[in-house]
Amino acid sequence: AGSDVAAMTTTATRDTDGYTLNGTKTWISNGGIADFYTVFARSEDIPGAKGISAFLVPVNTPGLYIAERIDVLAPHPLATLQFGHCHIPTSNMLGNPGQGFKLAMQTLDIFRASVAAAALGFARRALDESLRHVRQRRMFGQTLADMQMTQAKLADMATSLEASSLLTYQAAWLRDVRQETATREVAMAKMTATESAQRIIDDAVQLFGGLGVRHGHIAERLYRDIRALRIYEGATEVQRLIIARSLLKDNS
Ligand SMILES: Cc1cc2nc3c(=O)[nH]c(=O)nc-3n(C[C@H](O)[C@H](O)[C@H](O)COP(=O)(O)OP(=O)(O)OC[C@H]3O[C@@H](n4cnc5c(N)ncnc54)[C@H](O)[C@@H]3O)c2cc1C
Repeated sequence: AGSDVAAMTTTATRDTDGYTLNGTKTWISNGGIADFYTVFARSEDIPGAKGISAFLVPVNTPGLYIAERIDVLAPHPLATLQFGHCHIPTSNMLGNPGQGFKLAMQTLDIFRASVAAAALGFARRALDESLRHVRQRRMFGQTLADMQMTQAKLADMATSLEASSLLTYQAAWLRDVRQETATREVAMAKMTATESAQRIIDDAVQLFGGLGVRHGHIAERLYRDIRALRIYEGATEVQRLIIARSLLKDNS
């Protein structure tokens, strides 16, 4: 279903003492490695989000198999899972019938904040490596760091990293300390931290020149590592929708 989560088609049909799962789940992180999967499936005869329930599925459940492993730009274990008449006892349902979508969205608020934090780590490494490099690289009788154009780039990199950090810490604090839902703030943090990390890392590649695109170089690795974070746990465009909907709801 991708961005349109509520359009998922995997079904959970009631049987004698539980549910039978049928369908395919693709782009599953840790697919083929995990011992348990959290599976969202359509269990209720209600269209859209309200018909979805969540289940805990052990990897050794008969009928569950890894259909395909998926290779992407940077190392990330991913697989497609196939569910063929998998029997799941009622005790493995997470929450109540029809509450799966709500559970998924609540969980995403936590995971999106952690994606923002991961992006900060990638961006910080890019800035640190850039600072080290520009002090050493000599050209035109001076170092790269002596040039104002370099200094402007470094200032922009550091400032957007700091702004992303503050949004991320705020989102985490609202969840952890204030125990608030913080959906809007988490979306702002995820969008800003991942988008600005991409720009910071791109600037780092530029500062390294040819070295920055050499296979195995730290800047090249970061450039590949950061890309998927702008897509998973809700792509940037989806974060924009979440933020705008929340603003419009508050001001209605
Ligand atoms: C590395 C990686 C790990 C993943 N791990 C998991 C996992 O563990 N479990 C899982 O279930 N999924 C996982 N996914 C899938 C991920 O959640 C989806 O890739 C993501 O939600 C986007 O869905 P999609 O790929 O189908 O793209 P689409 O939904 O087809 O989106 C394509 C483009 O359309 C844009 N778009 C969407 N809605 C709108 C709109 N209303 N207006 C304008 N543009 C819009 C999107 O932002 C995107 O740019 C993973 C993906 C990756 C890349």
